[in-house]
Amino acid sequence: MDRSPGRFSRLILETAPHGKELMTTPVVPTERSTREPSAPRVLVLGAHPDDAEFFAGGLLHAHRNQGATLRIISVTNGQSGHHEMPSDALVARRRTEAARSGSLLQSDYVTWDYPDGSLQPTLDVRESIIREIRTFRPDLVLTHRPFDYHPDHRAVGQAVQDASYMVMVPKIVPGYPPPSQEPIVAYMVDLFTRPAPFRPDTVLDASHYLENVLDMLACHESQFFEWMPWIDRTAHTMPNMLGMSEAERTLALRNWLRDWYLERTALRGDRFWNRAWGEQPTLVEAYEISEYAGKPSRERLASLFPKCQFV
Ligand SMILES: [Zn+2]
Repeated sequence: MDRSPGRFSRLILETAPHGKELMTTPVVPTERSTREPSAPRVLVLGAHPDDAEFFAGGLLHAHRNQGATLRIISVTNGQSGHHEMPSDALVARRRTEAARSGSLLQSDYVTWDYPDGSLQPTLDVRESIIREIRTFRPDLVLTHRPFDYHPDHRAVGQAVQDASYMVMVPKIVPGYPPPSQEPIVAYMVDLFTRPAPFRPDTVLDASHYLENVLDMLACHESQFFEWMPWIDRTAHTMPNMLGMSEAERTLALRNWLRDWYLERTALRGDRFWNRAWGEQPTLVEAYEISEYAGKPSRERLASLFPKCQFV
């Protein structure tokens, strides 16, 4: 991939990370969860451990606060996202980091075993997704678009698209009965324009959830504090922590991560926030409804995208 500055540098700002010692992360208090039996079930199918919170952390917290049942899947095992660690050790570490991140959201965060960096939208991947949807029975599935800089993201988006109709066909993947209602599939935000730009249907002012999203991102230490500074050649921007106490290190890294994340996500607001909704927020998320899956009513959309603006 081209990560050099220049013509595509603004696109690169929106790309998510892939591939020390555990440190404690400050937990920011959140609204109290009020679980209701009718609250939606939300499934994220991301390519890598950390994609869900990077792209949809705000909406996931909005749902969590309203009592939704959440489940996050990383389709790949994250084995390629490091410049030093052996892949076996990295897979185990990333699985632990993801589970810890999910626990902050009161969500399962499961890492599948497909190899990071080599994912293809195969029949096997499609059937795994069909089994997952039929087992968890989500009302809403969040995933990547099939247009994205990372081939794993494209593969997951394609596999979910391929599964979207087949999930309702009983003779496909027998033994796992189709759900009674076709789930809605929505794409998480990206800034790519070819062959088609992201076209949001709903936009969230996610600023209120920023610290919660950072709590989750900070769990992925191997990514945000090791791998990304190396692959992006930005290690020199990290704080000099020589002589710092553990608490000072945690705070310094947290402040660095906040700046890094807001810089990478700034263009979302420029592109997708309508000033008629108010001043442009610090953090924006946006979602495009897939035309290949369930067709939501206006009322169902409002339930599946709490706190969101509708385009
Ligand atoms: Zn990713």
